[in-house]
Amino acid sequence: MENQEKFWLFIKPHVYVSKEENKCMLLYNTQNGEFIETARQHAINTVNQLHERQNLGTILMEKKVIDSEIETFIREAEQKKIFGIMLYSEKHPRPVQLMPVLNIQKDIEKLRKDTDRSIGEDTLHYLTELTLYVNDDCSLRCRHCKEAYKQVNFCIQNNTKFSIDLPTLQSIAKQIQYAPIGRLNIIGGNIFKYPLLENIVDIFDAQKEVIHCWSHYRNFQPKDLDVNFDIWVDFPVSNELLKKCLCDAPQDKTTFHFLIKNTEDVVNTEEIIEEHNLANTELHPFYTGENIEFFEDNIFLNREDIFSEIIEQRKIFCNQAFNFHNFGKLIVSANGDVFANINAPKLGNVKENSFLELLYKELDENTAWRKTRTEKPCDNCLYQYLCPPTSNYEFVIGKPNLCTVKS
Ligand code: SF4
Repeated sequence: MENQEKFWLFIKPHVYVSKEENKCMLLYNTQNGEFIETARQHAINTVNQLHERQNLGTILMEKKVIDSEIETFIREAEQKKIFGIMLYSEKHPRPVQLMPVLNIQKDIEKLRKDTDRSIGEDTLHYLTELTLYVNDDCSLRCRHCKEAYKQVNFCIQNNTKFSIDLPTLQSIAKQIQYAPIGRLNIIGGNIFKYPLLENIVDIFDAQKEVIHCWSHYRNFQPKDLDVNFDIWVDFPVSNELLKKCLCDAPQDKTTFHFLIKNTEDVVNTEEIIEEHNLANTELHPFYTGENIEFFEDNIFLNREDIFSEIIEQRKIFCNQAFNFHNFGKLIVSANGDVFANINAPKLGNVKENSFLELLYKELDENTAWRKTRTEKPCDNCLYQYLCPPTSNYEFVIGKPNLCTVKS
């Protein structure tokens, strides 16, 4: 750069750029995690020029007209592999950068226009996880029953005595037999009160490898069922019942899920895991309405958390287009109502609507699958699509951003 009058400056195609009200700009290298944040107008203008459609990510610069500030910026960006430089020569053509663009919106529009295609069998390929609340009957009186299911895959008790009947179950199984289901959750109530539990494997023969039966540890009963078990443990724990459940559950096919509301629960969980040598465990934070400090200390993201690992371009694109917490998932409640997220409006009912109709409705209306960070304050944040999409925690806490970056 020193000895040449002119040079091509180009932005590398793997660089993600975001702006905050044109006052601040982030340039993020999705290959090495290096980044620059700048509020210098001259630097922002340079990147804006690179992004002008006709420039194709490349501009010709003259050394004599660039000031020391922009030179420092270019050097830093070059060193972080955000920019590239090519010396100008009349003999060589301009370098062209093909900037990747996201096309999902076009796909959705196409789906809307092309009605034949929209409810074609291929819509079923979006369905990767199905959760069936087979009943809502349970005689336990867990303190968190009415809240936990809104945050995690927790059981729910309504005692309305709804349960999914055999013809409905068979109809669901038939409709999803060719869907790429990676997980079929069977949950209640107390699933051991569900009269068709032992028929589940036969009914869902095409998905039998991915069936997960969920139970509260106090409800668990040993059954000769060839499924995976997912068992909830919440605190305070009944040692006697937990020990019984730990003895009865097939350890190689069981994951223990701990509902965590404070640091004491974390300590107790660690003790249980160690004492019983549990191999498959997951900890799930639980917002009680009174433990926001626990969430602020342990769940809220800060700037360092966001940049703690390399965020690949495909993940940023995914965050721009989809909500990965929800995408591909449907939930059927014990009365047949279907949701794309338990906190989202109902899509329909399995007794009245086919899965193709329900999937099309979600793709068209977007109650949950494509909910990205488009609300304030995230819509004007440099890290809008670096952050994971909103989850059920944002919903139950009633705050669109669980971070310390913006209040
Ligand atoms: S959660 Fe929202 S406001 Fe907070 S850092 Fe992420 S995008 Fe920004």
